[in-house]
Amino acid sequence: MSDAPTLGTRFADELPEMAVPWQAAEPPAPRLLVLNEPLAAELGLDAGWLRGPDGLRFLTGTGLPDGAKPVAQAYAGHQFGGYSPRLGDGRALLLGEIDGRDLHLKGSGRTPFARGGDGLAAVGPMLREFVISEAMHALGIPTTRSLAVIATGKSIVRDNLAPGAILVRVAASHLRVGSFQFARATGDDGLLRRLADHALSRHHPGAGDAFGLYRAVVGAQADLVADWMLTGFVHGVMNTDNMTISGETIDYGPCAFMDAFDPATVFSSIDEGGRYAYGNQPTIAQWNLARLAEAMLPLFDDDQDRAIAKATEALGGFRTRYAAATLAGFRAKLGLREADTALTEDLLALLKTHRTDFTSFFRQLAADEAARRAGEPAQTARRTPEESPDPFLDWIKRWRALDPDLDAMNRANPVYIPRNHLVEEALAAATDGDLAPLHRLLEAVTAPFDERPGLARFAEPAPPDFGAYRTFC
Ligand code: AMP
Ligand code: MG
Ligand code: MG
Repeated sequence: MSDAPTLGTRFADELPEMAVPWQAAEPPAPRLLVLNEPLAAELGLDAGWLRGPDGLRFLTGTGLPDGAKPVAQAYAGHQFGGYSPRLGDGRALLLGEIDGRDLHLKGSGRTPFARGGDGLAAVGPMLREFVISEAMHALGIPTTRSLAVIATGKSIVRDNLAPGAILVRVAASHLRVGSFQFARATGDDGLLRRLADHALSRHHPGAGDAFGLYRAVVGAQADLVADWMLTGFVHGVMNTDNMTISGETIDYGPCAFMDAFDPATVFSSIDEGGRYAYGNQPTIAQWNLARLAEAMLPLFDDDQDRAIAKATEALGGFRTRYAAATLAGFRAKLGLREADTALTEDLLALLKTHRTDFTSFFRQLAADEAARRAGEPAQTARRTPEESPDPFLDWIKRWRALDPDLDAMNRANPVYIPRNHLVEEALAAATDGDLAPLHRLLEAVTAPFDERPGLARFAEPAPPDFGAYRTFC
């Protein structure tokens, strides 16, 4: 195994109380479905070796280099508002670290945290995570990455039988709000402090102490959720075990991108109350961060009243930071020199009233304005015949008066996002053995700002007959 990388054991060594040593299950007939070659290169892994038999054993966790200490991580979490003291990696495994980043498997067999689950994952959902996480990365949004998906050759039981798969994931770490909840619940403040020190040194080394770490997480999450809101991303399952300390997006289960702008948008079949609707995401992030503060309180101050006052003040900073990040994001999306709250809010109201496609609107706005400046007719497909005159016209006049920078808009507004109908089409084909549509979709969404004539179909909203979209965990 000359090409096998060294796998770090920092988490396993520093936080043994938060992990169970564990091995990946042996897949009966592993077959590499997709490999992220640029990410492999970033990690110093040779793509040719990864595609070979030793590489495949490495990627499935069944042939690890000497000294590796794979573990299933323990964590707790609030799921839809209700607390579970023991969640953990039921079907996942931390193989170890490469250059300080976690190499992690999903779908690698049951662990002691599996409860009633089978420990497995299906090809469709793992490819879904691959496509959406890589699209998020290309959009410039902090996220866990996807290195590979391997079909296991084993059928698994879902609604029907489905082909099984393993996702190989790379993350700054897999530390979550739920990791701190787990450590706090042990009652061992020494463990809580070790966890905070570990997180501080890996993710927010400039933050100083545990309270500085907390403030840094609040800031990173405010910026992250602003990025989601600016691209129409609906995470779908913002439980505290699915919120990272690093500020990366994690757990691509029932997530999806909104087409028509509507703050009430929910895709997840199990989110009956709309707790994790698009428009609720900032409030939920702040709620989760309040749970993080509760877990970390003993580290903030020996005097718990003072600790609570500090936490309250830091948590209050979430809204300010989130509002500033969102406003700055809309400034960029609209090509403005200065942020404009009223113009932004009035636009969102119009988008909602007219159920406008949230992604293509901004590119069309820039394209129409470029045409107008060149004395050519507008090309917009936004307006329907019933909407004449254009209900956006007064707003567009106000925007135009600010002399927007159209090139800057095209650098801030994607042409291609992993639209739901395209993702479903690609996954259905892949599950039937045809990977060509998946690769074509990846080609579009991994260069999302770069408009290409051959990919026009990938820029369009779902056809009307696509209907209401439902996602499943
Ligand atoms: P999630 O909703 O993906 O955040 O997962 C919540 C919890 O359920 C985590 O502890 C997962 O490890 C566990 N889990 C999800 N699916 C399975 C499965 N098929 N087998 C075992 N555990 C699972
Ligand atoms: Mg999860
Ligand atoms: Mg999940």
